[in-house]
Amino acid sequence: MMARRKPKKGQAASKGYREAKRLRAKLHKKVARRRQDTGRKWAKSVVADHDALAVEDFKPKFLARTSMARKAADAAIGATKQALIEMGRKHGRTVHLVHPAHTTMDCAQCGARAKHALPLGERTCTCTACGTVSSRDKNSARVMLVRAGLDPAGAEGVRPPGAPPQVAA
Ligand SMILES: [Zn+2]
Repeated sequence: MMARRKPKKGQAASKGYREAKRLRAKLHKKVARRRQDTGRKWAKSVVADHDALAVEDFKPKFLARTSMARKAADAAIGATKQALIEMGRKHGRTVHLVHPAHTTMDCAQCGARAKHALPLGERTCTCTACGTVSSRDKNSARVMLVRAGLDPAGAEGVRPPGAPPQVAA
């Protein structure tokens, strides 16, 4: 709508152009709010189930320059990370910010660093040093836990103190 109503050079913006601009602003606002809401809901569920968290301290601007740019922007991972940090502080969890370099290149098992970065399409990570095969994302998640000084072995299915006990089925 804005493109069709774009004012010619030196001409004042028409009423239709201004209206289109208003609609665009409204839509963008809606998208931003929806992303924040989703981010907060996700962060809340993570914070509720874990008493210590580790997250990559990446710079959203750096990611924007990589091939992941549009996917990262679309998933609003910067806003989501922020929501996780805020939610963790609010509920008294320890949030570790981990140095983001090489999280997909290091082996969570033995700490060896791969010589080459994994292409994004490669979903499993095989360590050349110790031969450990694991899912790409799980390996990086474990690397982050190790860097935060946490134990990856105890990361799954652990509930924080104060959480209602899980009833065995
Ligand atoms: Zn290894």
